[in-house]
Amino acid sequence: MQLHCLGTAGYHPNEHRHTSCYAVPEAGVVLDAGTGMFRLAPLIETDQVDILLSHAHLDHVVGLTFLLATLYQRPVEVVRIWGKRQKLDAIRTHLFAEDLFPVPLEVQWCALEDGPPELLGKPQVRWFSLEHPGGSVGYRIDWPGHSLAYVSDTVADPIADYVSTIRGVNLLLHECNFRDDQTQWAEKTGHSWTSRVASVAQMAQVRQLVLTHLNPLENGDDPVGIDSARQLFPQTQIAADKMVLEF
Ligand SMILES: [Zn+2]
Ligand SMILES: [Zn+2]
Repeated sequence: MQLHCLGTAGYHPNEHRHTSCYAVPEAGVVLDAGTGMFRLAPLIETDQVDILLSHAHLDHVVGLTFLLATLYQRPVEVVRIWGKRQKLDAIRTHLFAEDLFPVPLEVQWCALEDGPPELLGKPQVRWFSLEHPGGSVGYRIDWPGHSLAYVSDTVADPIADYVSTIRGVNLLLHECNFRDDQTQWAEKTGHSWTSRVASVAQMAQVRQLVLTHLNPLENGDDPVGIDSARQLFPQTQIAADKMVLEF
């Protein structure tokens, strides 16, 4: 299966990256809805699209307001948006307040508290709570022979509860907003730093680690100090916009 990276920055876009959005087109799955959402339309292969939200911070949801254009370009029968109930309510009340966005969207809002997402092809989907200001959730999706986990945003910790849930996945997408010399900032803002994320991948014995939610102020080729991750977990790479990952 293939995962397309539509937006790989945290917080705000920069010249090279849009904010968090990933798609598995053959499964009709989208992970988060940052500014990278504008790239989704030509990738849609299914008549049902399920958007799984980690939380409601703007860098993960503002692209929901682009859906009107997405569905104009590529109409689909069903669009469902999954997340914790409180986050969905906040998005509908605030992001889709009439003064901010006047056109109603034809989508279904599905609270995770009512049951795990039922996706096309019926893969097993598990969601789990993550430590982050206001709370966020991660996801693990298992198809026959293929599995991925999406962990964003949180303070990575190899002894956190979520590590056992993501054990052994083919592909771990984990936020890594900060370098190892910025741990104070990471803890203050509820984010991860490089070597800690690698420790999580090592502990969870995943097959490959892809670092996401990269700091938009880091414009170079190596926004995270990749060597400190690879020392602990060699199968680590840095996500890039438009990258396609096999898993
Ligand atoms: Zn974020
Ligand atoms: Zn956040």
